[in-house]
Amino acid sequence: DSIISMRDVSKWYGNFKVLQGVSLEVGKGERVVVCGPSGSGKSTLIRCINRLEVHQEGEIVVKGLELTDNVKNIDAIRRNIGMVFQNFNLFPHLTVLENLTLGPMLTRQMKKTDAEELAMHFLRKVRIPDQARKYPLQLSGGQQQRVAIARSLCMEPEIMLFDEPTSALDPEMIKEVLDTMIELAESGMTMIVVTHEMGFARTVADSVVFMADGAIVESGPPQEFFANP
Ligand code: ADP
Ligand code: ADP
Repeated sequence: DSIISMRDVSKWYGNFKVLQGVSLEVGKGERVVVCGPSGSGKSTLIRCINRLEVHQEGEIVVKGLELTDNVKNIDAIRRNIGMVFQNFNLFPHLTVLENLTLGPMLTRQMKKTDAEELAMHFLRKVRIPDQARKYPLQLSGGQQQRVAIARSLCMEPEIMLFDEPTSALDPEMIKEVLDTMIELAESGMTMIVVTHEMGFARTVADSVVFMADGAIVESGPPQEFFANP
């Protein structure tokens, strides 16, 4: 039973076919790592799942709802999906705590005190509760990315999408973000992760998908692709 189902999905940017009939099934609690060369369509693929990009052919079904122009379906699907980007996308003029409480207060009508309690819960999960009153730019890149992950979790999504979450980080900060993602995976979160971190793929992924020129060229469990260390 798939929580995400993509069937023969194609997309063009003008005359350029960026996705060429991609099919992908993701089960609840499954961890899928997407890899492949730069420009192969990885980012576009996952951005189609929460309608940051619009596909033109094929179908995408999330939790039984098809992604079409139907605004109700799009809203319902987006409520179930958290997304983490390469460049954190935090609001620089809001504190860490305010970045986390904004979504729950605006879209889930939570009271400020409840939203702050929820926010502190997830800041503890990502191991930076002591940074709550700081502004994002006062934090390291690794800490900012963990804030971004915590912010997504405050919306209590069932699915988390990661678009090269460690690519903008200095090497010494990559591990702390990957550790947070490993803990999230162990908690049973459904995750699709675009990354070049093959160690993460080998140890965390249930399946690895290789893209080239807008198509999935290979997929399977990581043992099929990576020799044991
Ligand atoms: P990847 O994530 O694998 O690096 P992307 O999905 O970001 O690949 O991009 C795939 C291709 O589509 C690239 O050649 C990129 O330049 C192109 N592309 C991405 N976004 C747009 C856009 N908005 N308009 C035109 N071309 C785009
Ligand atoms: P990434 O590698 O993280 O996907 P990119 O630098 O490829 O980032 O793209 C950054 C943004 O620019 C994305 O929103 C993408 O849609 C857009 N973009 C990428 N390539 C093109 C392009 N050739 N024309 C227009 N927009 C593009």
